[in-house]
Amino acid sequence: MTAEPSRATLIDGKAFAAGLVERVTAATARLQSAHGLKPGLAVVIVGEDPASQVYVRNKGERTQAAGMRSDTHRLSETTPQADLLALIATLNADSGIHGILVQLPLPSHIDTAAVLAAIDPDKDVDGFHVVNVGRLAVGLPGLVPCTPLGCLMLLKNALGDLTGLNAVIVGRSNIVGKPMAQLLLAESCTVTIAHSRTRDLPALCRTADILVAAVGRPEMIRGDWIRPGATVIDVGINRLPARDPARAAEGKTRLVGDVAFDEAAVVAQYVTPVPGGVGPMTIACLLANTYTAACRAAGVTPERLDA
Ligand code: NDP
Repeated sequence: MTAEPSRATLIDGKAFAAGLVERVTAATARLQSAHGLKPGLAVVIVGEDPASQVYVRNKGERTQAAGMRSDTHRLSETTPQADLLALIATLNADSGIHGILVQLPLPSHIDTAAVLAAIDPDKDVDGFHVVNVGRLAVGLPGLVPCTPLGCLMLLKNALGDLTGLNAVIVGRSNIVGKPMAQLLLAESCTVTIAHSRTRDLPALCRTADILVAAVGRPEMIRGDWIRPGATVIDVGINRLPARDPARAAEGKTRLVGDVAFDEAAVVAQYVTPVPGGVGPMTIACLLANTYTAACRAAGVTPERLDA
């Protein structure tokens, strides 16, 4: 008789995110009753991209549900950059708005870097402004990009102290890979960042106690790349045709991560599923960042929200 391989424990991002949203909502209510302050988030969308429209609507609804003010500014695809910058200047000056998020991607005639640079860093709830990138790098309080912040919360909740662990991050984007590396370095992990030019990626991944996949390639990371007992955080969101050929023929899709989940689940100690792992943390951390930005604007110490 062969023993069943042991299965990794799932890191339930959906449940953790729901708890985080509850804590943000409760802290927001206390902020309002104690200080008469209602956090406000402005979301700006340029153009008609259907996926972006869905994200923006969702963000607005979730912001309101948390007891915050939510403003959505919908601009046409052909909006001149100067008009977008003028709107950002108005939002920067609005004392009722504590967070500004410009939905990406922007139309190609707009210089994304110039737009992100125009946002007041203290209202930059996406954490993409170079001032916040710098603050994170040198360990000053700032606003941290939502997805890696969510990953860190999940890791600390599963593992506790991360000191001395080997972390390998696959992906070096400004929105996930690089800030994830900074956050893990600040937790005293030994951090390696891998990318498309890395040599012998499977061998490198096998050195990881913590493996973060942020690549955008479906199921690229295989089970035999994972060190037994490692913790695997799968940031990837990729759409593949549905398994059932009839459904696939109708254009139905399924979501998969950057990690071959079924293989990882028999090797790792902890693993995040896709969907239901990192994904739900991103919006929860956006709300947390908006609450934090509002507190700081008013000189109030934010409550701890991570646990
Ligand atoms: P980017 O495309 O900006 O970056 C991908 C990174 O992966 C790059 O650094 C690239 O390397 C690296 N890469 C690509 N191919 C390989 C390869 N074969 N081997 C090793 N490294 C490789 O993606 P993002 O960081 O924006 O997103 C990554 C994934 O996370 C996507 O699936 C995205 O949908 C998802 N995502 C999920 C979020 C969530 O809320 N859960 C939020 C944000 C993203 P190089 O730099 O050398 O090109």
